[in-house]
Amino acid sequence: MPTLLTHPAIPLAMACGLGRDKLPARLIAAGVVASILPDLDVLAFRWGVPYAAEFGHRGFSHSLLFALAVALVGVALAPLLRSTRGRSFWFLLFAAASHGVLDALTNGGLGIAFLWPFSAERYFAPFQPIEVAPLRLSRFLSLRGVAVLWSELVWVWLPCFGVACALLAYRRYRASASLARTSATKANPGP
Ligand SMILES: [Zn+2]
Repeated sequence: MPTLLTHPAIPLAMACGLGRDKLPARLIAAGVVASILPDLDVLAFRWGVPYAAEFGHRGFSHSLLFALAVALVGVALAPLLRSTRGRSFWFLLFAAASHGVLDALTNGGLGIAFLWPFSAERYFAPFQPIEVAPLRLSRFLSLRGVAVLWSELVWVWLPCFGVACALLAYRRYRASASLARTSATKANPGP
């Protein structure tokens, strides 16, 4: 997995790019939680569930069905999140599903059970540039941890920053174009 610090990069980039008028703070916070929630499955190790089992790490909680369930909880909680049901659904679906996609881009561990419960097969992306984060904290606090954080910076945070900037620039362009149209209509109201 990428580290728990890095999964929130996806919803945070969307939040920066789309703006607080579309994504209220509570929904953004819920998106951050949704992006790291699948890794609660590491608790299964404590209960003796093997990594490769359907309820093991990168199993059911990393599936698209789990992301859909998270999104549906978001729909039910939309008034609490101060958002519309539609926005809650799509934002939380995106945030939760992005977790498995990032994990599938890592170069270690087992693949992701995207299609659980229809298939227990584990999948990796065809290209795996992200250094997998060690599950043990002691291994993370070493040069290995530095290599992991560097690869996450290059392959996750920088692209997310680029997407956020592009969305922000597009939003500003749309706003200034709309303002220019309004001004032109006022200056020349027609016959
Ligand atoms: Zn994970």
